[in-house]
Amino acid sequence: MAQDIVAEYDHRPTFTLSTKLENEIRQQGIEKPKGYRVSWHHNPLVERYHFGQLHPMKVWRLTLTKSLIMGYNMHHAMDVYSPPAATKEEIAAFHKEDYVEFLSVATPKNIAEMYPELAQPTGYSSAVYGVGDDCPIFDGLFEYCAYYSGASVDAARKLVNQQSDVALNWTGGLHHAKKGEASGFCYINDIVLAILELLTHHPRVLYIDIDVHHGDGVEQAFWSTDRVFCVSFHKYDKEVFFPGTGPLDSTGPIHPDNPGRNHTINVPLNDGITDQDYAYLFDYVIGAVTRHYDPTAIVLQCGADSLGHDRLGCFNLNIKGHGHCVQFCVDYCTKFKKPLLVLGGGGYTPRNVARAWAHETSVCIGAADLVDPTLPEHMPNREAFRREGMTLFPNLGGWRTQNLNTKADLDKIIRSVTEQLKYVRGAPSVQMNYIPKEISIWRAEAEKEHQARKLDREERMEDRDGAGGLLAKQSRRRELERNGLVTGNMGNMKLSEFMTGPSVV
Ligand SMILES: [Zn+2]
Repeated sequence: MAQDIVAEYDHRPTFTLSTKLENEIRQQGIEKPKGYRVSWHHNPLVERYHFGQLHPMKVWRLTLTKSLIMGYNMHHAMDVYSPPAATKEEIAAFHKEDYVEFLSVATPKNIAEMYPELAQPTGYSSAVYGVGDDCPIFDGLFEYCAYYSGASVDAARKLVNQQSDVALNWTGGLHHAKKGEASGFCYINDIVLAILELLTHHPRVLYIDIDVHHGDGVEQAFWSTDRVFCVSFHKYDKEVFFPGTGPLDSTGPIHPDNPGRNHTINVPLNDGITDQDYAYLFDYVIGAVTRHYDPTAIVLQCGADSLGHDRLGCFNLNIKGHGHCVQFCVDYCTKFKKPLLVLGGGGYTPRNVARAWAHETSVCIGAADLVDPTLPEHMPNREAFRREGMTLFPNLGGWRTQNLNTKADLDKIIRSVTEQLKYVRGAPSVQMNYIPKEISIWRAEAEKEHQARKLDREERMEDRDGAGGLLAKQSRRRELERNGLVTGNMGNMKLSEFMTGPSVV
């Protein structure tokens, strides 16, 4: 399938597109955005894993997303990175060490012997680190987590280091994972890890979550700090909708001395919300928060289960309605020169998840108007989109009987947010309870760390291939970069490997 787009990479720095696709691209005129840099962080090894036949989380959605992004040639407008897996130490920056250790050793074979009670998991989570029906132990689980987390950490570092202004990782955004517990298909909370990276330089990070589920894991992690402001828009029903948290009056700790007080906003919604109502709330709430809090960086979780026709969702959002939130953040961040980290999240109708994240990629590179709504003729996996027709923008609204969010519901949310923000101190007086490292020191450290890792990698390669192999690979990579075909750190990965991803384990 990849051969339709690129010729097999055969030791020469070529990246040959079929003539037809070249023509399509020329017509579309997609190029790097002016005035800011966008980076795409994606390790295709993450695509190998499988939660199980009946599980709604389909990793295939990531392959479809990549197929669309590359089919539209949008990777040409971004710096493309294939980051290494996060290390146990990096993961332990947030997660408990015993939990990380558990994830790294548990397998489908040994789990029943280690914890016989897991044979009958009940409810949303079990007594053992939250694993069970929703969060199964599958082959390669820890590697899967380390790959998607590594991409988020890498993206955050590129933003801190000013190597990127808008960084994307569609494989990340796993917002339910807790410090010592898996939850809601999430094991490692890559969002928290990325925000911790941003906090090494940025005094105030705004976290925005548009997944249909409440962003409980991130909210809990930063509950008691004023350095992260969490805003989550989600379906809320305490009794029947996972995770049952995030009511309107949950705005942070109650204790008056706790700095996290009033630094959480929850926007609870009912079934069937439309593009129009969602945009109205999003623009008002995020507009007000950015004015009051004046964040120095934004992290946007783009869970696509808030789209209409999602297998687990209940909203009526269309691709463009969902993408409106991304557009808002891109406009704000590029206008005020603030870094933006854009992450994936939930999304259980894979082809529509891919459509949304491809459209949102086009928004990030400023090419939304240039992308042809008809899916590229020669893209890989085109057949997977057949059900709604070969368009990027099928009608996903109107599948629920009605919009159960009344005008009174929306007004109540607006009133509550307006009142709450009166207690958030104006931007100039926002005090930091923790002084971040001075940027120049951070950069020197980051550079040292980068060089050490590079050396380590080269030595490992040398051990494996001998110096000849190493030098040949280095010069190939340099040539690729010189030609502007692949920028950033693709490591030793071949282009064809990046395109197709390895086969499922
Ligand atoms: Zn979700």
